[in-house]
Amino acid sequence: MTADLHIHTNASDGLFSPQEILTKACAVGLTHIAITDHDTVDGLLSLQNNTPVPGQTAVIPGIEFATDLPQYEVHILGYFIDTAHSELNRQIKIIAANRQERAELMVHKLKKLGYPVNYQRVREIAGKATAIGRPHVAAALLEKGYFRNISEVFTTLLEKNKPAYIPHYKLSPQDTIALIKSADGIPVLAHPGLVNNDELVLEIIESGIQGIEVYHPRHSAEQISRYQALAEEHGLLLTGGSDFHGIAGRFPSQLGEYTIPDELVSRLLQSRHEQP
Ligand code: AMP
Ligand code: FE
Ligand code: FE
Ligand code: ZN
Repeated sequence: MTADLHIHTNASDGLFSPQEILTKACAVGLTHIAITDHDTVDGLLSLQNNTPVPGQTAVIPGIEFATDLPQYEVHILGYFIDTAHSELNRQIKIIAANRQERAELMVHKLKKLGYPVNYQRVREIAGKATAIGRPHVAAALLEKGYFRNISEVFTTLLEKNKPAYIPHYKLSPQDTIALIKSADGIPVLAHPGLVNNDELVLEIIESGIQGIEVYHPRHSAEQISRYQALAEEHGLLLTGGSDFHGIAGRFPSQLGEYTIPDELVSRLLQSRHEQP
């Protein structure tokens, strides 16, 4: 088994469609993938009519929510969520509508800052995405030639507390965890190394998180062993994935370049059946 439990599609800010992701995952021999789009399950719904083929990559349903902490970008993954859950879908609709408004506001702000982009163009770039976001705005800015690469756009304008940053509607970590659980999902703290604040991780553990994304391309070896120890100490699941978006200049460039140990997937699959 080789697996990747953190993948974005064009239902949020990834480049490839869910079907393209599945085809690529099969081609590189991944046994399990989780599709974890930002704030939407539409990518999963588009694969719903696929009959699982023996030997083909199995798809674990997932989602990734950002939470409303003002200082930090804390993201929470939900595995095995019931995509038809009514409260989950109600929240998703609120977030999607708010993301649209926010994208328009960002375009306004960028104009004032001397970086005019066309909102219609941002919409076109977002294409089928339910969750329109900063990477779509960044792509429009890149097209205009204002910056050399996507990370330059983020560090200059779009990162939290940078001039063109606007937050979107989010739930607290506690409410996000509760929502995922109510939709029969397993909440997992995404890439804690990006925040790198162990006190915050402990608070989120207290709030009832069930796993930690120990393996992430942006975690150092030291962070991996620290989060592994923390997860084991608190009896939590360990997960990991590539956070693949398919965006040029962002590691990994190919699906299958970053995979996680087999036994983590077995434990995640097993824990699904142990849910109360
Ligand atoms: P949003 O959900 O609209 O707030 O946008 C967040 C997304 O922007 C993340 O999920 C990443 O895909 C992307 N992102 C955040 N920071 C950076 C960065 N420094 N460079 C490139 N992409 C980033
Ligand atoms: Fe993203
Ligand atoms: Fe994330
Ligand atoms: Zn992600």
